[in-house]
Amino acid sequence: MKAIRVHQFGEPSVLRHEDAPEPQPGPGQVVVRASAVGVNPVEVYIRSGAYGQRTFPFIPGTEAAGVVETVGTGVTRVKVGDRVYVAGSVSGTYAQLVLSDQNQVHPLPQHVSFEQGAAMGVAYATAWRAIFQRGQAKPGETVLVHGASGGVGTAAVQIARAAGLVVFGTGGTEEGRKLVAEQGAHHVLDHKNPDYLKQLMDLTGGQGVNLILEMLANVNLGKDLEVLSRNGRVVVIGSRGTVEINPRNTMARDADIRGMALFNATEADYQTIHAALVAGLENRTYRPIIGRRFPLADAPKAHEAIMAPGSHGKIVLVP
Ligand code: NAP
Repeated sequence: MKAIRVHQFGEPSVLRHEDAPEPQPGPGQVVVRASAVGVNPVEVYIRSGAYGQRTFPFIPGTEAAGVVETVGTGVTRVKVGDRVYVAGSVSGTYAQLVLSDQNQVHPLPQHVSFEQGAAMGVAYATAWRAIFQRGQAKPGETVLVHGASGGVGTAAVQIARAAGLVVFGTGGTEEGRKLVAEQGAHHVLDHKNPDYLKQLMDLTGGQGVNLILEMLANVNLGKDLEVLSRNGRVVVIGSRGTVEINPRNTMARDADIRGMALFNATEADYQTIHAALVAGLENRTYRPIIGRRFPLADAPKAHEAIMAPGSHGKIVLVP
């Protein structure tokens, strides 16, 4: 099969499109023929070596969607020919064939495209965990999706809106903000406008928001603490460096800063997340937005695109 393999850390050019052995399912495992593969910032950090040692060569990626090709002994969740999305993989997902444990594979409703399915394993799972498991959001609360135009942000807007929250979303471009509004944000702000957090405070009648989902904490965390309500929570989803905060802003509000990493989800958390995501796909409240698609061989271009400003939903690779 064709796959993207990394033989050494480095620039996007280390993503080599080459022949790799076809994975074989062991007991309880499933091989999926991938029709689409999700691209995420974390794969850029891993490829560049920022996340520590790996065994070379490795196939990057943890999410994809396609059709079950073969199953190992003892597999009961799916059968050959089923449409599925993959959220986690034993072999890596930047490939034509993807090996996963059966509990990492979830049904993909007929009306959802494979490209959309490839957005579930990281972006939707992260947004869901941030809102409910870490953010403990309740219907009627206000949420600022700080960075709402990308893969996680568009998912968060749809999920929060469907759960009855009042949603504020930010984007850095006109196109991105239009997309955020289309996903259901009640109010859309420009995170490049110097006054946008004042606008947020005005829109909340000076109260601030109950919850912030933060995509770029190294830039925003200090300011986030000034626009939180009493008992407010910031969930740190993304950060690319250090930041100075004034701790007094947490004291004044009994506010919490809560980090989150999807890979810290327990097996029980994970099954909860995906039960909710499958239901949201089935009832059409979750509608993943695909902004750009690249052939698998162009994975280096996809890695450059995911780090560039001007996000517009999810980026996928097509094997
Ligand atoms: P993405 O598709 O590239 O989206 C990036 C988002 O950040 C866009 O909405 C972008 O808006 C926004 N942004 C840029 N500058 C900003 C600023 N100054 N203030 C607020 N937002 C700003 O990436 P993604 O897949 O959604 O991931 C978002 C972040 O979450 C990344 O840092 C990623 O590493 C992290 N993440 C973490 C986890 C976890 O488990 N903790 C899981 C998945 C992702 P414009 O482009 O419109 O400016």
